[in-house]
Amino acid sequence: LLAVFTILTTFAAPAQGLSEAATLAVIVLLGAGIGFLFGQRKVSNVGADDGSDSRDGLSGFVTRDFLSHGIGSLAARGEKNSAGAVMAVDGGFYDRLSRILGFAVADELVKAFAERLRDSLPPESRVARLNADQFACLLPGVSLDNAVETVKRCSWRLEEPFEISGTPIAVGPHFGLAEIPAERIEDPGSVVRYASVAARQARDQRRPWTVYEVEQEPVRKDQFTILAAVRTGLQNGEFSLHYQPKIDIKTGGVIGVEALARWNHPVRGFVSPLEFIPVVEETLLIGPFTEFVAETAAAQLSAWLAKGLRVPIAINVSANNLTQSFGIGRLFASLNEHKVPPELIEIEITETAVFADFPEIVRMLRWLRDQGLSIQIDDFGTGYSSLMYIQQIPANGIKIDQTFIRSMVRGEKNLEIVTASIGLAHSLGMKVVAEGVEDQATLELLRAIHCDAAQGYHICKPLPADELEVFLRGMTSREAIRA
Ligand code: C2E
Ligand code: MG
Ligand code: MG
Repeated sequence: LLAVFTILTTFAAPAQGLSEAATLAVIVLLGAGIGFLFGQRKVSNVGADDGSDSRDGLSGFVTRDFLSHGIGSLAARGEKNSAGAVMAVDGGFYDRLSRILGFAVADELVKAFAERLRDSLPPESRVARLNADQFACLLPGVSLDNAVETVKRCSWRLEEPFEISGTPIAVGPHFGLAEIPAERIEDPGSVVRYASVAARQARDQRRPWTVYEVEQEPVRKDQFTILAAVRTGLQNGEFSLHYQPKIDIKTGGVIGVEALARWNHPVRGFVSPLEFIPVVEETLLIGPFTEFVAETAAAQLSAWLAKGLRVPIAINVSANNLTQSFGIGRLFASLNEHKVPPELIEIEITETAVFADFPEIVRMLRWLRDQGLSIQIDDFGTGYSSLMYIQQIPANGIKIDQTFIRSMVRGEKNLEIVTASIGLAHSLGMKVVAEGVEDQATLELLRAIHCDAAQGYHICKPLPADELEVFLRGMTSREAIRA
């Protein structure tokens, strides 16, 4: 058929004197016919109608709705053994490839990828293209254990390089699996979504595949609600800052405090920053959020200065605040309005975030430092630090992550890591803060290995501003915090 198609389109049409439009129509009709026959090859007994409008133009696969319909019928059969599984495939190439080599090449690869995927599946399976290079495969009667075998076979085949326009291209797809329950389900499409969630998780965790677990759902499902609630919460004054002191290990005096966001939701009550910060950080909302933190911190600094307390405040800043400059411009306006010198503000940026757009972030950090702000690398040791990078980041200090500190007294290896990090930071002219100091033994150990400063529940928990003032005034080495 392909040969006839080529001959017809190349020679036959002009010879018969057909107009260009008629030639195009012949091509389209033949193309559609071939596509239909091609797609028809593995039509299963799942689902009823198989009309051409239920197929994807590029891959020839069925649509998502059509697949959901098939899942619905399988589940409703109430099989004793497994009703089946859905395997989601995330090609992971379309976005980059289309940017580098163009959409035509990326589409070619989708076709070749789809073809190989279909050939790697059991005959009774059915495939839908979800979007660009993402597919969902319905595996009727296949248990989760057996589905893993299918994943392995597909992954093995799909990882062999493809040849597109004479160029070998290798891809690294990720897979997600979800089980089809053997009982009637309200929303059969949710099983496809579960499999996609698992494939996405596999990609995030750099694993070849993962199986959907119910526990991983709430966070993702909540994301949109969280964003809306944070936006409203900012308008309604539901957020505040708590402050946690950092002390100089040698003198015991407070050298500053870290501002930590606190959300008092009208219905849910206290919501941990770990629940909403990662969601907010991925969107432009991190701009207004950091503006709120900066404004509150500047107002607090001004109030403390008026009372004779000079305590630098560290604020946590996300990579997007720096690469997109959101929230940072407002920081200087706030400092100006409250007549607070920039030296009283420290920026804590997480090590992982630093690597998002390295040159841009380094440029911004350098600029902030030139304005008089101090820069700390937060959660040191948890990111992908490279010694060369650390040397290039214009930081005044590092904060060693609490996971190392908390187990330091017990785990010998962690003690070595902390000791080496302190040595490295000192040799680069940086100060070191240990986070998560929960007992006196840890504090003593930190003193012995020449750590400069400490922060943690053993010293003081994060407190609202008024309670912190009481703590500060009760400290013995008052001169360290007096203006
Ligand atoms: P972080 O910046 O590393 O802050 C330290 C976290 O450790 C805080 O958790 C603090 O309450 C907690 N902590 C302090 N001492 C101890 C201790 O001795 N033991 C234990 N187990 N924990 C201790 P929190 O307040 O829940 O904040 C979590 C993270 O959320 C922060 O980690 C920071 O990355 C982020 N975050 C908090 N507020 C903000 C903010 O205003 N902006 C941004 N961008 N991120 C924020
Ligand atoms: Mg921090
Ligand atoms: Mg930290």
